[in-house]
Amino acid sequence: MDVNDLQRENIKNLKPYSTARDEYKGQASVFLDANENGFGSPLDELDGQTRSYNRYPDPLQLDLKEAISKIKGVPIENTFLGNGSDEAIDLLFRAFCEPGRDNVIVLPPTYGMYEVSAGINNVEVRRVNLMPSYQLDLEGIAEAVDQHTKLIFICSPNNPTGNSIVRADIETVLANFKGLVVIDEAYINYAKQKTFIQELTEYPNLVVMQTFSKAWGLAALRLGMAFASQKVIDILNKVKPPYNINQATQDIALEALKNVAQVNEWIRETVAEREQLSRDLEALDTVQQVYPSDANFILARVNDAKGTYDALVDRGIIVRDRSKVALCEGCLRITIGTPEENKTLLEALKEIK
Ligand SMILES: *Cc1c(COP(=O)(O)O)cnc(C)c1O
Repeated sequence: MDVNDLQRENIKNLKPYSTARDEYKGQASVFLDANENGFGSPLDELDGQTRSYNRYPDPLQLDLKEAISKIKGVPIENTFLGNGSDEAIDLLFRAFCEPGRDNVIVLPPTYGMYEVSAGINNVEVRRVNLMPSYQLDLEGIAEAVDQHTKLIFICSPNNPTGNSIVRADIETVLANFKGLVVIDEAYINYAKQKTFIQELTEYPNLVVMQTFSKAWGLAALRLGMAFASQKVIDILNKVKPPYNINQATQDIALEALKNVAQVNEWIRETVAEREQLSRDLEALDTVQQVYPSDANFILARVNDAKGTYDALVDRGIIVRDRSKVALCEGCLRITIGTPEENKTLLEALKEIK
């Protein structure tokens, strides 16, 4: 399989936008090539402002990728940064899926954005439900694939079910599917299962997505990562908006990466809280089943999902009602909060009959 042949025909022939920063890369002191405001920005006069924002940012975010590479161990040529993982998802559609002809496979119940992106791009979605164990239906997937199937989205740990997908099953898909296998690892920091990042050298059709929105505590920043073979990364770079990661985001993410210790501490606490909250929920009469979780949330089946949801809202506590989702009937998805938040939730649930 050659990744270049998977591209849409118009993308194969696309001449990408060339920025001022692409055309001149050396050392200089006078930059009159990008129609910026050479005087500075209004922020320059403000207290505590250390950096100027009057220049366009690095289109390839090399400093930030270098810092990420040190933590993840993935070379920067194999790293793509997007305005949230959602941008990477959308770009995969735009680069690889011919609208009205190609199709992708999603494995419900799972993250809703894959289907939304498919819809926006007018690409057919083939749904192969997970089995009741929330694991892959490998036969179903094999039957759904045809010559126009370009992407398979595997979310592991899966949202909203919380479980990791069995590694050997993912490897089976990777070894047999002729398109791209996108493994969404938004919740990998909370999982016992290890990341697929180390397998990038094995599989040219592997794309691993991670994000700064969950364990890193930077959902507002909008910064997502995709790791893949250089051919895939080059194609995404060709299609992305030239300055998709703004300078403020690059600066703040670089600062945040210096504080891995804090992030790791929160991960430990969240996992400990998850195990405790799971036990506490199981002990409630109104809770029928608590699914094992490898993520920072728990899926729980309760006696009256809508009633429980509403009663929690009345107490100012918001969870996600997933009770209408196939295979999640009667379930609520509960994010693991701080110890106080979890205690508040539990006390409210004890009151609700
Ligand atoms: C939260 C989440 C993301 C993160 O998306 P961003 O756009 O990076 O915030 C990605 N995938 C899944 C499955 C998620 O639940």
